[in-house]
Amino acid sequence: MNIALIAHDKKKQDIIEFVKRNEEAFSKHKLYATGTTGKLLMEATKLTINRKKSGPLGGDQEIGSMVANGKLDLIIFFRDPLTAQAHEPDITALLRLCDLYEVPLATNKQSAELFLEHIKLN
Ligand code: PGA
Repeated sequence: MNIALIAHDKKKQDIIEFVKRNEEAFSKHKLYATGTTGKLLMEATKLTINRKKSGPLGGDQEIGSMVANGKLDLIIFFRDPLTAQAHEPDITALLRLCDLYEVPLATNKQSAELFLEHIKLN
């Protein structure tokens, strides 16, 4: 599967822990990420991740373009619901495209855990 990983700054530690804990399952898939999330995940694991631009610099739009072009099967996006994001319009656009193209999107840890059960089977 083609999987994108994204986390807002205050959720980066959470996604690192989540991916590290499930590194073997993720290693069987093709991974993409926004810039900083991907950099931190590659430093923390042995995974190879195709990094897009940082989210605030257009990375969410790049991931959105992949969604629109049928290049992603699943997105795990640990959002920070308590902090305003300068690139909120880009984030909203990405969420919209996930709904438009019916790409599964987990926006918190518990949803991601459920997705992972699926990932392990595919
Ligand atoms: P980042 O982008 O991984 O480059 O920090 C994530 C985001 O804020 O959308």
